[in-house]
Amino acid sequence: LSEFPYTDVLVLGLAKSGTAATSILLENGCRVRVNDLKTKENDPIVKELNRLGADIIVGSHPLNVLDGIEVVIKNPGIPYSNSILQEAIKRNIPILTEIELASYLATDRMIGITGSNGKTTTTTLVTNMLLNSKQKVKVAGNIGTVASEVARDLQEDEQLVLELSSFQLLGIDTFRPKIAVLLNIFEAHLDYHLTMKNYIQAKANIIKNQGASDYFIYNADDPVVSQIAEQACAIKVPFSLKKRLTNGAWIDESTVYYKTKKIIEREEIALVGSHNMANILAAISTAIIAGATIDGIKEVLRTFTGVKHRLQYVTEVNGRTFYNDSKATNVLATEKALASFTKPTILLAGGLDRGNDFFDLIPYLKAVKALVLFGETKEKIAHIGKKAGIKNIQFAKNVEDATEIAYNISDVGDVILLSPACASWDQYKTFEQRGDMFIQAVHRLK
Ligand code: ADP
Repeated sequence: LSEFPYTDVLVLGLAKSGTAATSILLENGCRVRVNDLKTKENDPIVKELNRLGADIIVGSHPLNVLDGIEVVIKNPGIPYSNSILQEAIKRNIPILTEIELASYLATDRMIGITGSNGKTTTTTLVTNMLLNSKQKVKVAGNIGTVASEVARDLQEDEQLVLELSSFQLLGIDTFRPKIAVLLNIFEAHLDYHLTMKNYIQAKANIIKNQGASDYFIYNADDPVVSQIAEQACAIKVPFSLKKRLTNGAWIDESTVYYKTKKIIEREEIALVGSHNMANILAAISTAIIAGATIDGIKEVLRTFTGVKHRLQYVTEVNGRTFYNDSKATNVLATEKALASFTKPTILLAGGLDRGNDFFDLIPYLKAVKALVLFGETKEKIAHIGKKAGIKNIQFAKNVEDATEIAYNISDVGDVILLSPACASWDQYKTFEQRGDMFIQAVHRLK
């Protein structure tokens, strides 16, 4: 962190990332104050960070925690409406996320991947392709490990693949990935970003510091992404599912190409869904530029069947095939899942009500023969189902109950798909827990 220009830092929010940022800043000689609303005074982490030399204020947000502070490092999940952040804005104190710290620790070795959907899948593909090509690489960020912590322990010859959310990208200043990837931009997280313009701006941050020797891999089929690409200083590498490209990855009916080179036959690829084909094109481009071999890339594409909870194949029970897409926490993700199947499908959906109507689902419900709905949004989705002409609509107590109901109304050859189109927090701690409950319920059917 020798180049980090601040000494007096307020870390706001003591989750995994705040704790890691605090200890990294302290190790590097910064004076660190920590403020967290929910952590209790007697929490072991408070004691530990105190021992390391942090000044800790928990249980409230007194505005004077900002006195003498030069910069705030905030947890990405804390909205800017938070009283401390509002005060920091008034006082002209910069607000960053720990991604900015990572960028000081892993300069020149970062690959940053963002987009509304497909981040984890693409990040996993890229990492596996590089590892399969005997490249040294670590993965971190939104995917689950703290970026700055992984960056601190990165070896000189290792690359760092970062999955980045819009929340994380809002808090960067000098962060400059040598390869930036922008998968797509859909309407999402408007409760946090308030306007679509802010959200687009956050995503565009990924290229804001890039120079002429860096690369920007982007979705040429996405109009908003293509507009952002017009402002890029980096070498532009588009990908497209629709058109032949001389400067990026593309497909025809049978084959996947990078520029003019054949990479793999489509029928050899294990992942399902056209949205995943877009992720694959992005991943191939990134991996090739970062030093992967074609054989290393092919091996991954032949064997990788999906990240857990993302249109993940679960198993077959008496001729019914089960897919777990619990990660589909918005309508668009569920549309993509539905578009991946032509067989008769029973859709399990519902969850936290964020004020969505679900009208956009209607055109995707053609193969859906029954809906089994749960959670806060079940009536809303039932209304949409009726509009789409679906006769068999059932209500369930939860995902486990829905799985049983779905099985009881299913026939041989059906797809039974959990793709809720909603967040899980009305009934479950996380989408992972919701998906695990589904998987367990499926296995109980056997
Ligand atoms: P993220 O990490 O951005 O949330 P994931 O890779 O975890 O994305 O995928 C989450 C869900 O988003 C998938 O289950 C799928 O329904 C949808 N999805 C994935 N990739 C794409 C894409 N390229 N375009 C649109 N939707 C996608």
